[in-house]
Amino acid sequence: MPTKPKSICRNSGCGRIAVSDGYCSIHKRTKEQSQHLALYKTPQWRKLRYQALRRDRGICVICEREGYQRMATDVDHIIEHSGDIELFYDLSNLQSLCKSCHSRKTLMKNMGKERG
Ligand SMILES: [Zn+2]
Ligand SMILES: [Zn+2]
Repeated sequence: MPTKPKSICRNSGCGRIAVSDGYCSIHKRTKEQSQHLALYKTPQWRKLRYQALRRDRGICVICEREGYQRMATDVDHIIEHSGDIELFYDLSNLQSLCKSCHSRKTLMKNMGKERG
């Protein structure tokens, strides 16, 4: 009786046994992350991003709350979408941010992850 050979992780040079979708438990996560990144390349996202910037008049919403106007360069998800398509494409879940506010938020988010 022929036995089906165990598949090896598709990530080159990994060599671990694949657990699902051809990737090992470590590289599976990387694949999910790349799927998230692919969402940012869709025409729907480009359109929505433009709508969010226009709604916020191209101004960073955090800076505006603090009383000054700074040009928004990034569109941020208020609630982290984590690959959730509904949250990702929800205009009310989007806010326009300037570079420094966005990187500050990303930094805080990553610190929160480290804590648990
Ligand atoms: Zn792997
Ligand atoms: Zn700002």
